[in-house]
Amino acid sequence: MNISHLSLSDFRNFHDLHLDLAPINIFIGLNAQGKSNILEAVHFASLGSSRASHFSDLIRWGSSSALIRIAFLRAAVSHSLAISLSLSTSRRFLLDSSPIPFRSLIGRLPSVFFSPDHLFLFKGSPAARRKFLDAAISQSSAFYFSDLLTFHRLLSHRNSLLRLIRERAADTAALPLWNEQLAQTAAKVLAKRLDVVEKLNAVARDVQREISMQAEELSISYEVHGLKGANLPEDLAGWYYENLNARNFSDVQRGATSLGPHLDDLQFFLNGRELRKYASQGQIRTTALALKLSEIQLLKSATGEYPVLLLDDVMSELDATRRAQLLEFLQREQIQTLITATEESYFPKTLIGQIFKVEGGRIL
Ligand code: ATP
Ligand code: MG
Repeated sequence: MNISHLSLSDFRNFHDLHLDLAPINIFIGLNAQGKSNILEAVHFASLGSSRASHFSDLIRWGSSSALIRIAFLRAAVSHSLAISLSLSTSRRFLLDSSPIPFRSLIGRLPSVFFSPDHLFLFKGSPAARRKFLDAAISQSSAFYFSDLLTFHRLLSHRNSLLRLIRERAADTAALPLWNEQLAQTAAKVLAKRLDVVEKLNAVARDVQREISMQAEELSISYEVHGLKGANLPEDLAGWYYENLNARNFSDVQRGATSLGPHLDDLQFFLNGRELRKYASQGQIRTTALALKLSEIQLLKSATGEYPVLLLDDVMSELDATRRAQLLEFLQREQIQTLITATEESYFPKTLIGQIFKVEGGRIL
């Protein structure tokens, strides 16, 4: 996976940007110049959505549309991806000049994003952890992404029905049918997540050991909501179906579905202790980095190629040794990387990379 060219028109604070990218790309500039916006454009092209914003926020203020164009090489074949955003219509995606729907965008141009925001992954809400997992899996499995979209569609149908029943505008007789469909899809989503977390565990343990000089053992456990420490049932769909039916009455009261992978969580342990409660700031940083590097490895083993790595502002978070180690690893493994930083001094002279100076929405 290698991006050769990136163009932005009226995206965030860029009016017109054309960049030829190298394997390692370093964006240097003062605060608020547009460094993160460049990374956001690439990540948006990967997922078709943005973590923080509605897509209309991505259009340059005063403009009515924005365009991201990316030329990339994947499995030795050149491709082009164009994404247009407009205030009046919605997002449009063109792959090799042909329109593709949103649901088939993800996975075309895999990327992994890492910023200091990810440090909240451990302490923040379960939603952030599910999102991390879903993005990682969806970029390597179109089936998973499709199942996930179906699951969320069915879930919102069931939730609407629950509320209608509560208002006596619908009958409970319809529930088992929805429960059945929801259970089937929930089981598929869960099975894939469990499989990926098992793989992630193995990779992340090795990475963490390496970057902590053998001092730290990382383990990740997937918490199935509603299972309360019991063993995982063999027939996941059957288990969901039975338990959804059992919750019909209480779910109607609450107007929401109280069981399913939309409520599951991940737990992280360092040397057997819950990371969220006991880890130091430095350990949290190291673990977040280990997790992201593991995500890259997983994507590589699933797709055959490394994704593009987007490192936003993380150089200042790492000490000099870890910084050098990381950069050396990226160079050795030939992982195309876009890095932002405010200081050029974070980068060793020996690093072979392209440096771009970003100022006021332009590259100098
Ligand atoms: P820092 O070092 O502080 O992280 P940065 O160089 O990464 O800075 P960006 O986050 O890329 O900065 O943002 C640059 C500027 O883009 C911000 O000042 C922001 O106000 C501006 N900006 C954000 N959205 C838009 C938009 N839709 N149109 C025009 N400008 C925007
Ligand atoms: Mg920034």
